[in-house]
This record gives sequence, structure tokens and C-alpha cells, in this order.
Amino acid sequence: MSPYSAWPFLSDPNHPFLSAVWAVLIHGGIGVLCVAPLIWRSDHRIRYAVLAFVGGSVLDVDHFIAAGSLNLHTIETMSGRPATHSFGFVIVLGVLTLLLTRRWIAAWAVFAVNLTHVLFDAAGGGVQVLYPLAHPVGLPWLACPIGTLALFGVSAVLAGGLSRPRRLDRSRQGVAHVGW
Ligand SMILES: [Zn+2]
Repeated sequence: MSPYSAWPFLSDPNHPFLSAVWAVLIHGGIGVLCVAPLIWRSDHRIRYAVLAFVGGSVLDVDHFIAAGSLNLHTIETMSGRPATHSFGFVIVLGVLTLLLTRRWIAAWAVFAVNLTHVLFDAAGGGVQVLYPLAHPVGLPWLACPIGTLALFGVSAVLAGGLSRPRRLDRSRQGVAHVGW
């Protein structure tokens, strides 16, 4: 890989296990962050937070598939990340989720969590973000925090739009239940 020296969160091939733990934690953390407003507004905060945390690392399964190995050292010393670490694949994941669930909010969550994953990795280099184009092979590190915050902002707007009718429904149900 040709990491950017300015990016302080690079994995260290000399410590593959610690690097993997770190990758799961950071990808999970920013995955939860970028859809936090939606999680907060949902009726199942813990369930969706866990889902976003785990989902934040799912994209890295492609490393194991590409390497044909579960050996962490092999993964850490690969020459670049697989083509599935790209904007195009993230869009495909979002569209597939929409087709399978018919829920655009679920599609947005899958898109956002995986996009923030690619933005994070792209800061370190070795990522064909516009695959099948060979270049660029990374993004300026600022794209990660700015992009993640932008995704958070969109999630906040979506959450605001979702919450009102939901609450109305709930209060109506409450009234019906009480028998008024
Ligand atoms: Zn990755």
C-alpha cells in the first residue's frame, strides 16, 4: 500500500491482530456515528447501533475473499484493497438493500455506513475509490471527517422527517388503547 503519511490511523503489518481490532473498532465507531440520528430516533436503538457497528466492518470481508486466506498477516500485507472498496460498490449495496427490503431508510443506512468505511480507508491510500478507474488510489484525509459529518447531517435530516408521523401514530394508538 502507499499510505498517506498525514493519516495517523494506519494499520501496522507488524501487529496484524491489533490492527484488525483497531479496524473493527474505528469502522464500527464511525459507522454508528454516520447514522446516529436515525438510531436515536428508532424504537430499537441498541439493536440498530449494534447492527451499524458490525456493519461498519462487513466490507472488509472482501480482503479475506481476495486473499483466499483468514491469516491476518496476509491481509495486512496485501498490495492494495479489493475493488469492492469503491464508491460504485457502495452504491450497488445501497440499491440491493432497497430492492430487498423496500425500505429506503435501510438502503440509506447501508450506503452511509459503507461509504464512511471507504472514506476512512481511502485516506490511507491503496483504494481505487472510483473503480474500475485505476485512479485515484486514495483521497485526502479530510474527506473522511467531512464526509462522515455530511452523512451524519443527512441522517439527521432524514431522522427529523421520520419522527413526526411516527410519534403521531403512537399517540393515536395510545388514545385508541385508552378508549377515548
Ligand atoms: Zn476496509
